Amino acid sequence: MSELLVYNTRARRKERFEPLEPGHVRMYSCGPTVYSAQHIGNLRPYLFADLLRRTLEHAGLRVTHVINITDVGHLTDDADAGEDKMEVAAKRTGRRAEELAAEYEQQWKRDCARVGCLPPHATPRASEHVPAQIEMARRLEERGFTYRIEDGLYFDVSKFPRYAELSRLDLAGQQGGARIGGVEGKRNPQDFALWKFAAPGVKRQQEWDSPWGRGFPGWHLECSAMSIQYLGQTFDIHTGGVDHIPVHHTNEIAQSEGALDVHPWVNVWMHEEFLDFRGEKMSKSKGNVYVLDDLVAQGVEPLAYRYFFLQAHYRQQQTFTDEALAAAATGYDRLVGLACELRRAQGDVDASRLEEPRSRFAEALCDDLNAPRAMAVVWQVARSDALSPAERWTLLAEFDAVLGLDLANAEPRAAQQESDPRIDAMVAGRDAARAAKEWAEADRLRDALAAEGILLEDGPEGTRWRRE
Ligand code: AMP
Ligand code: ZN
Repeated sequence: MSELLVYNTRARRKERFEPLEPGHVRMYSCGPTVYSAQHIGNLRPYLFADLLRRTLEHAGLRVTHVINITDVGHLTDDADAGEDKMEVAAKRTGRRAEELAAEYEQQWKRDCARVGCLPPHATPRASEHVPAQIEMARRLEERGFTYRIEDGLYFDVSKFPRYAELSRLDLAGQQGGARIGGVEGKRNPQDFALWKFAAPGVKRQQEWDSPWGRGFPGWHLECSAMSIQYLGQTFDIHTGGVDHIPVHHTNEIAQSEGALDVHPWVNVWMHEEFLDFRGEKMSKSKGNVYVLDDLVAQGVEPLAYRYFFLQAHYRQQQTFTDEALAAAATGYDRLVGLACELRRAQGDVDASRLEEPRSRFAEALCDDLNAPRAMAVVWQVARSDALSPAERWTLLAEFDAVLGLDLANAEPRAAQQESDPRIDAMVAGRDAARAAKEWAEADRLRDALAAEGILLEDGPEGTRWRRE
């Protein structure tokens, strides 16, 4: 396989990737905050991390991948003001924070699996690693990086000269004041909480004792403490959304390098861009979100969303529209249809003919995971006249180890559709009635079908049906 180049945010350029430990890559990805359902924009970081992991494995490397679960400490405002998202959701729903966390952790795991992400080797929960976080804060205190105010124990960024190295922000001239970012007594605007005290008179659902008082860990601390616990004092790759560069990842570096006295703590930082919808980031706070089940309800296969993801480079913003999704669903279905024919093909495989397309596919991925270019090679191979069907399938099966589109097992949608001429006729009759705006007739047919236990899915390619 060609030399693997990855864009390292730390260097702001593509660099040749070399694991610290020969043959073994240790990588960490910031995981979900499990206070509500993860939407399809939230899935993009994990699709990206999974593509990276599969590319590394394809290159013959062993990968240990850790993704954390944030189930405590993530505030509604990154500047350490505001409330804990878990506690807010618990209050709003009248449920226990633990119960919500368990439900949304499962939803996240299930949806990641449905879009073909391999399960990480560990998914540690912040709430189960509080002693490790306290220990790290204690070390930072011992080494003179912290100060205590009414609100909690804070990291003093002026004690860490490399603070702006990752973000490249100009901190000069940003003065501290009596009340910065809603917190009384912070010395510098970028100072952040390592430990927050539970507010006086307020009983939180999640709180612990610490050497500084009862409370809970700051959000950034969990990623430092858990990545080090699971991957070692230095490791290869840390991933996350671009929004993490100026605050969360910058603070993780300050804590980890400050506590361990290492540099660089993480060799390669990789960040993916957002999924946009209607001109802005798809986001819970903006309310413009789709969850994977919404797509499934429209008749879209979860893996068609992965196919959609592969059509853009991870460092590009990707725009989600119903049309783009429908086009991806059609593309995926066609590819699956071709794969289905090819995988039955018998015949000889001339290994020498596989080399050229194989290396073009590898080159695309090795150029900082250029998935759109790799997909172009996939289509050239799938339709190639120069290769025999058996050769085409050999390559597609190999490529799919990286793409994760399940080409070895997937069935085209047409083949999944049950066949029953009487039901087909009723469904077609309802479609025709709808097209003619004969709503009463359309409803009559829908009710008659429902009475027989037939479920209808009105999708971009017309109405499909299945039995309950
Ligand atoms: P949230 O739970 O909304 O704070 O999102 C958690 C993380 O998921 C964010 O910090 C981003 O890195 C990522 N994320 C959220 N929305 C999107 C999006 N629309 N596209 C890509 N990544 C996103
Ligand atoms: Zn993190």
